[in-house]
Amino acid sequence: MQPYRPEKVYVERSVESSPVTSHVLEASRGVPVAIIDSIDVLLEESKRWNPAIAKAKRYLLLAKHRGKFFKPCPGRSTRPGAANVCCNYFVINYASNCHMECSYCYLQSYLNFPYLTIYANLPDLLSELEEVFTANPHQQFRVGTGELADSLALDPLTAYSTFLVSFFSRRPNAVLELKTKSNCVERLLDIDHRGRTVVSWSVAPSMIQMLEEHKTASMDQRLQAASLCARAGYPVAFHLDPMIHYSEWEEGYKDLIAGIFDTIPPESIAWISLGSLRLTPALKQIMRERFPKSFLPLGELVPCEDGKLRYFKPLRVEMYARISGWIRERFQKTPVYMCMERPEIWEKVFGGIPSSEENLGNQLLVSLE
Ligand code: SF4
Repeated sequence: MQPYRPEKVYVERSVESSPVTSHVLEASRGVPVAIIDSIDVLLEESKRWNPAIAKAKRYLLLAKHRGKFFKPCPGRSTRPGAANVCCNYFVINYASNCHMECSYCYLQSYLNFPYLTIYANLPDLLSELEEVFTANPHQQFRVGTGELADSLALDPLTAYSTFLVSFFSRRPNAVLELKTKSNCVERLLDIDHRGRTVVSWSVAPSMIQMLEEHKTASMDQRLQAASLCARAGYPVAFHLDPMIHYSEWEEGYKDLIAGIFDTIPPESIAWISLGSLRLTPALKQIMRERFPKSFLPLGELVPCEDGKLRYFKPLRVEMYARISGWIRERFQKTPVYMCMERPEIWEKVFGGIPSSEENLGNQLLVSLE
């Protein structure tokens, strides 16, 4: 992975004394630092940039998160008749934006505030989680930090993972998932995690990584990092998402699955998810402008009930069925599920749908016992 060094660090005065701020400033020695009273001034400045996306990634902002950190995964569509099968997942928005440059990254069309931002009011985050987990002692929570940012790519600067992994190690009814395209696992290896954190990688055939996932860790680097985590006793997981159709996809995904199972003991793999490429019309336009060499917008994509563009259903079903079959050939017991897919696709690929979101979430947790 291409390491991140910001051109400038902005620190909101309210998080000046946060331990996250201390780690970032220590690791960014020599980088100019500005203390600001509010992020409003940055927002005004970024409105004058056109385009703002790449430029704003060069600046790191440490700010206070003013809303709720913890919420249900928004992958669930709220449009009538557009419900996808969900896995009862929750997310923590500890940061927003990312210094890596995947051509298909939905953050390009999603974020209103483009600065690479870390929310450094860690005590507020931990007390909010404590409150939720304590108030619902009989509910099991799977919680991820990778919705609006990569979970580990900035960890060499922030050390965020060390606080979260330690916190979750003491929670009997919650499991943390750190999802990444980096190989930044060094800080994780000596923590007493007690099996309450799953470290996961979004993975793709090497050719797709090289063409479409700029500045990310190579597949070899990701698998080596996963191997280190498995040896440190962490459950690990893999997300073949977005699953990409191209002329050599069968060979590419077979090699990828072989690489995973040749490197990681199957008993260490908590789950593998599959999710096909999904673009909004706005994102497709941004991709054409920012990544003119990307072949992804050229694929035949059709509008779906949730407003996203996907491959035709028969093609998705074929890819899901073949890929999950190759996984099963290597290890029958690995839990495999699909992300953001319709019930009829589940029926065709797996021969049925989970009886409820809670059931699917709990089935995935069983693999950790
Ligand atoms: S690693 Fe994830 S968050 Fe970062 S650019 Fe790629 S898709 Fe976006």
